[in-house]
Amino acid sequence: MDPIASRPSAYILLGPPGSGKSTQADYFGREFGAAHIDMGAALRSAAAEPTPFGAALSDIINNRRELVSDGIVRSILENELRKVGASRPVIIDGAPRCGSQVHVVISAIEESGRTFREAVFIDLSEEDSITRISRRFSCSECGRKLILGADLRTASSPCPVCGGEVSQRQDDTEEGVRTRFRVFRDETVPVIGYFEAEGKLLRVPGNKTAEAIWGDIRAALI
Ligand SMILES: [Zn+2]
Repeated sequence: MDPIASRPSAYILLGPPGSGKSTQADYFGREFGAAHIDMGAALRSAAAEPTPFGAALSDIINNRRELVSDGIVRSILENELRKVGASRPVIIDGAPRCGSQVHVVISAIEESGRTFREAVFIDLSEEDSITRISRRFSCSECGRKLILGADLRTASSPCPVCGGEVSQRQDDTEEGVRTRFRVFRDETVPVIGYFEAEGKLLRVPGNKTAEAIWGDIRAALI
């Protein structure tokens, strides 16, 4: 068998806030047995560690709100890849965030013994991104995620499960989402351009249900 073809696959998931990347990553897990590497969560968890590195990382992410360096992205990603069994495919979301991270991510994938297959871009407009996110709330008591209009009648309704108070993440307000969307777009344009030029970009429309989006992705990859 071709040794490259027999290596486990790696996919990259790109999409603005509200495009439902976590849900699509779950589908990759069910269909391909892929492990979800959530770089945003991995960075936040490294930043919460009581070490000088954790404190420095927390300052970058939480106070200065800047992109972390390529070197940090590389070491966190290598660590995440090591935690996944070597024979298991992966789906990476949250990196690459900008043009200079592309080669960092691709080389970490290859050094882990996997073959990069495709970057999947869930394309969602700014307005759709805002509509989706600004409806997301959560219960401060039981932690349940609640959608305004579906689970909650108004933004001040109590949690339908436990009666607790519901609240919204500060950057899930309309202004916060608009900023995150524009940051995503500006940073990710060169990333999308790179994969497109390499013939490795699968662009799927994001203004559909999660199930329909997965249907498009699955049909293109299988
Ligand atoms: Zn609750």
